[in-house]
Amino acid sequence: MKKILFLVVSLYFLSFNSYSQKVDGGCNTRISSIQEEWLKSWVLKHADNYRNVKSGTIYMPIKAHIVGRDNGTGYYSLATLLQVICELNTRYQPVGFYFYLDPEINFIDNSLFYEDGSSQDAYNSMAANNVADEINMYFVQASPGLCGYYAPWLDCVCIIGSCGQPGGTTITHELGHFFSLPHTFNGWEGGNTPGPAQLELVNGSNCQTAGDYFCDTPADFLSYRWNCPYQGTQTDPTGTSYNPDPTFYMSYASDICTNRFSNLQIGAMQANANTRTTLINQGTPNMTIVTKLPTNCTPSNFDFDLIPNQTILRWTKPSNAAYSLVQLASFGGGAIIKEVITSDTFLVLNNLNASSPYQWRVRGFNVGYTCDNATMFSNWNTFSTGEVFNAVSNISNEKSIYAFKNGVGENCIAYYDNANTNIETAHVKVYNALGVLQLSKDLNFGINTLSEMNEMPAGTYFAFVERKGVRISQFKLVK
Ligand SMILES: [Zn+2]
Repeated sequence: MKKILFLVVSLYFLSFNSYSQKVDGGCNTRISSIQEEWLKSWVLKHADNYRNVKSGTIYMPIKAHIVGRDNGTGYYSLATLLQVICELNTRYQPVGFYFYLDPEINFIDNSLFYEDGSSQDAYNSMAANNVADEINMYFVQASPGLCGYYAPWLDCVCIIGSCGQPGGTTITHELGHFFSLPHTFNGWEGGNTPGPAQLELVNGSNCQTAGDYFCDTPADFLSYRWNCPYQGTQTDPTGTSYNPDPTFYMSYASDICTNRFSNLQIGAMQANANTRTTLINQGTPNMTIVTKLPTNCTPSNFDFDLIPNQTILRWTKPSNAAYSLVQLASFGGGAIIKEVITSDTFLVLNNLNASSPYQWRVRGFNVGYTCDNATMFSNWNTFSTGEVFNAVSNISNEKSIYAFKNGVGENCIAYYDNANTNIETAHVKVYNALGVLQLSKDLNFGINTLSEMNEMPAGTYFAFVERKGVRISQFKLVK
């Protein structure tokens, strides 16, 4: 008997090796022994009456903890967070759960946590930052080998940002653990082999006491990421061919294969949620759908010379939106520099670079309806900060650079430098309203006609004059 078991186990490992090519990070989570005992007894009591727990929707708040580097960079996107909560609500609709966002986002600047979400630093930080009566969800850059995990001893989930993207099912899976669900391959985690009593037979005869204890999830021994449909040739210890179901969120089948919880899984999650009385009894969130755009956005349209350490963004919220999501980016479709969720209608930016172009946009939303809708963001509004005079006080005569239109309406830049007899060549770059570079050329001493702009469409342009790579002047040009 032992020999047979050994042979079977060896075959599994051979097969696993072929699947391990597709490893892209599982979660390695095992629910706690207390949860497992609770689950086993629940299954035995309720297997025939699994949807008796509570009718109606259960509303629960998510507390997002966004972990970044020590210098405050690398944050998981708040716009993405809104999208994935929207997706969660679609996937958990058959469960009867509805998640809403706690608008107080907790940003944690801790490089050690950010780079290894399963480090001691991470656990210490989670213990210090967890808040009561909410689903605590941490977003980090990496946790070696994992896409995310549920920490039973802290009762929170940790998500690797790249796995927590729209379309992925990592967050859905980890919340399954949060609500007591084991993997469908329970006991096989980390390449382990369950003992004979825990080894679920394909014929289902021991389904209530082995595997994940759910008789409506067939035997599954695949603790590595696998693609559907299952194409292996494994058998269970009785020699019965093995056919795992790839559609379960709690399996390790590829994200694109998974799309459901079983009825018993749903019943167990509902029962678990109902033990969390302070989590589930906080009322109904504001679920109003915001379809209108914010208005009166300032600065906009290439407003100039904003104070770098006190630029104030202002807008009018759509009337039915309680919150706004504001995004600041470098000009020209650059990376998002800052995202803020606020109930205010202004945002003070106090650490912008001097003499630099930026763009920003805003959308209204409510915490109970975070679904993305392209019409809800305003257009990108562009502006530029001015100079910090202390920093450029050695440039004494830059007023001798100016833009004007000549007699036939062409944009020109005059470049004089009266104090300097040894004139350095300057350089001009002209961008269109989308921040796309349209023209780059050297400026000669004297009048420079930007006749290249004659071919460009009418509109607003943005010109920077640089000398030795340092910006010395900037202009808004209208054509
Ligand atoms: Zn898992």
